[in-house]
Amino acid sequence: MADPQQENRAEETLHAEYRRLPAVDALLREPAIAALTACYGQELVTETLRELLAKARQAIGQGRPAPPPTAWPGLLEQALRQAHAPTLRPVINATGVIIHTNLGRAPLSQAARQAVDEISLGYSNLEYELDAGQRGSRYDHVRERLRRLTQAEDALVVNNNAAAVYLVLAALCQGREVLISRGQLVEIGGGFRIPDVLRQSGARLVEVGTTNRTHLRDYREALTPETAAIMRVHTSNFRQLGFVAQPALADLAALAREYAEAQGRPLWLIDDLGSGTLLDTTPYGLAPEPRVQESLAAGADLVTFSGDKLLGGPQAGIIVGRGELIGRLRRHPMARALRVDKMTLAALDATLRSYQQGRAQAEIPVWRMIAASLEALRARAQGWRQALLDWGVPPALLSLRDDESAVGGGSLPGETLPTVVLAVHADQPSQMAARLRAREVPVICRIQQEQLLFDPRTVLPEQDPVLLDTLREALVDGAETGHAQG
Ligand SMILES: *Cc1c(COP(=O)(O)O)cnc(C)c1O
Repeated sequence: MADPQQENRAEETLHAEYRRLPAVDALLREPAIAALTACYGQELVTETLRELLAKARQAIGQGRPAPPPTAWPGLLEQALRQAHAPTLRPVINATGVIIHTNLGRAPLSQAARQAVDEISLGYSNLEYELDAGQRGSRYDHVRERLRRLTQAEDALVVNNNAAAVYLVLAALCQGREVLISRGQLVEIGGGFRIPDVLRQSGARLVEVGTTNRTHLRDYREALTPETAAIMRVHTSNFRQLGFVAQPALADLAALAREYAEAQGRPLWLIDDLGSGTLLDTTPYGLAPEPRVQESLAAGADLVTFSGDKLLGGPQAGIIVGRGELIGRLRRHPMARALRVDKMTLAALDATLRSYQQGRAQAEIPVWRMIAASLEALRARAQGWRQALLDWGVPPALLSLRDDESAVGGGSLPGETLPTVVLAVHADQPSQMAARLRAREVPVICRIQQEQLLFDPRTVLPEQDPVLLDTLREALVDGAETGHAQG
């Protein structure tokens, strides 16, 4: 069946191809490669060359030819650049989802970025009292501002809201029961499930009510001497409609107080708001997202919320409420494991300052995006289209469309804001989207049927030139040259 002569010839070609692969030492002596060594270091260059040669050997084994000798400096430079590039990179969010968890949630304000820069560049009084010249607490830095903004007795900041919920339960409810409505046993995303966190904290979950309806009497009937707390969890990422009921927070607070007095021992009311907000969302045509200060006023003993959802700051978990309880959380051993660093505190403090000065809508990107008017968005989308037309993009490929942006980030599920998007027609939309993601500054957009949609609401104004340049290349140059990916 096999022809021995033909087999021999095939073997000889294979050997010839292998022999065309240069030795590492020879490559290192080439001037173009020596220049790369000066830039990236001998070790990384040698290692990368070995990897490239191994890959070439493998390719030859699969019947492909060896790279020509002149190709090596180019191959090496490309591989080095790839190895050296940061994996965490800025992207342009043209999806219209404002708090996009996959894309880093809230962009920081100018003031917050500046504060991070100043504090991270050198030493700071992170845990040092400048007046007394002695050791201080990192928790003091944003405490006063959070107290004033929310009218809470005290405040504590930890790594994120998941950590905040965990710390509250571990410190106050370990080994005891926590009542939660069956309609609030939520999964937030990324595997964060309230029942799991509760179990991990050492508290015992007691489910009350039904999936759609929970009444005050359901809570009352579930109370035992083992009950440490009633917890309300904001159903952040879904919405219940129809025959549904939940008691008001104020009624839960009254029940907790009444029971605590009758039993002569505390029963805490914990409110996990998820996003939470300090500002009213209704002036923007959105449903009311619960406000932190309202939860406290309604009688919650502790309220937990995220720093990088509607607050618009850095990743953090904020706990506000009763001073005595915050003190217990601060002294709990897990507080150290969940603590935030100086960059977070700097960014959070600057973000909170914008709220105190009444400048949140003007300065905090998340709120600027929410507040952007339809006219302003239309004008920007029109500007994008015009710039692309001026560059010679065929008019038939571009149109403007009324569409909807979303707040996202586990707040206001199903709520949208009217917007105007630039729609780009493409024969192979998913391939074009992949090309846009492969750019040095990747552009992430939405695909709908044959169109790529770009929502100006979530594109930072300073990113416009890069976005337009990317689109121009994809639509003009890319169309002509086939645009190599990479
Ligand atoms: C988002 C969310 C969390 C988790 O907050 P992170 O800051 O992402 O850790 C917890 N609870 C609720 C209700 C949430 O919406």
